[in-house]
Amino acid sequence: MESKPKWNIRSSEAAKNTLNPIRMIVDGMKLEPNPKKQVISLSIGDPTKFGNLPLDPSIADAIHDVIDIYKNNGYAPSVGNEEARAAVASYYSTNVSPLTSKDVILTSGCSGAINIAITVLCNPGDNILIPRPGFSLYRTVAGNIDIETRSYNLIPERNWEADLNQMEELIDDRTKCIVVINPSNPCGSVYDKKHLMQITKVAARHQLPIIADEIYAGMVFNGEEPPYIADITTEVPVLSCGGTAKRFLAPGWRIGWILVHDRHNAFQAEVHRGLFQLTTKILGPCSIMEAALPAILKNTPKSFFENTKKTLKENADILYSGFENIPGITPIMPRGAMYMMCAVDVEHMPNIKDDMDFVQKLMEEESVFCLPGKCFEYPNYMRVVLSIPKEKTQEAITRIEEFCKRHYTLNNGTS
Ligand SMILES: *Cc1c(COP(=O)(O)O)cnc(C)c1O
Repeated sequence: MESKPKWNIRSSEAAKNTLNPIRMIVDGMKLEPNPKKQVISLSIGDPTKFGNLPLDPSIADAIHDVIDIYKNNGYAPSVGNEEARAAVASYYSTNVSPLTSKDVILTSGCSGAINIAITVLCNPGDNILIPRPGFSLYRTVAGNIDIETRSYNLIPERNWEADLNQMEELIDDRTKCIVVINPSNPCGSVYDKKHLMQITKVAARHQLPIIADEIYAGMVFNGEEPPYIADITTEVPVLSCGGTAKRFLAPGWRIGWILVHDRHNAFQAEVHRGLFQLTTKILGPCSIMEAALPAILKNTPKSFFENTKKTLKENADILYSGFENIPGITPIMPRGAMYMMCAVDVEHMPNIKDDMDFVQKLMEEESVFCLPGKCFEYPNYMRVVLSIPKEKTQEAITRIEEFCKRHYTLNNGTS
């Protein structure tokens, strides 16, 4: 009998090039906790993880209502239904940047929005500018469609403002947009009006649109809300990506949006059409969440957002003052979002090679897990989350202090 050739099914280049840097780095680490100590994870950017930041009851009600009337189980238009789009438009509309339902595209989470925003602007071989340190999803999305990411530096000494000169040097004729994440994951920084204006000037000079990742908009600890980047410029077109994941404390619900702020018809009909066409790839977001969105935006009380911010800010204060006194750790005070970045002075830790090694040994000895800066293209830093219960924060500080006292020496390892 003739023997058949062996099956040979291969994965595509697109699949091979779709890499999540955090997963790759974390999966490759040796993470074995100290069996004598309970694990405290300061690594997970999910506010639902510990139960200390519950949903507002009005949000749950909105979803119950939608399910009960049994009318929202079918397909909505892939760009989102008119009512939900109109609700988002009126929620985010401002004088400088008025929005109507036509300017809103509903997506599956903010990551769905980012996917569409990048895909509509870039061809294979084009490049986009992204912040370093920055959220790793951008590299995942870009890799999938063969887009190069070029990182512009954020400067820790200047509250993580962008290095504008270096940003500008990265731009060439294949650059298609500048990504700005504000407030920032992983830095927790919040840009003021002046700095946002400086960024829009670079964009204007090179006629580049901005993709504004504003998923943490409204999560600012002190005083005045910073403006949306679209409110700063009447010249630069902006695709503002957002969603309910972080601010409404429900990342699993997978609803997000693109607010399309065109300027002088810079996007022309083509980009607008392209955005619509790209939504047909997944036939729109979850119909239940979409139908609940108008009520969620209307009914969630201000106190809910205030309480969330209060919890996050309290944790930021506890972590900052705790870390400040630990030899080898330099925290940088966040002003928003849910994270803090800390420099780790491995130069003065003779037994520790780098941030990866620091994080692994911290887990092994103290059962505390932080994300290494390498996950954000930023070695010798670590990111901690602000969303965990206070007792755990306190305990984590104590353990990190013990750890650093054991490993830190001023003698540069030569003692
Ligand atoms: C969490 C996060 C997202 C993803 O939001 P989803 O709505 O869960 O897809 C996007 N951008 C940044 C900066 C984030 O931290």
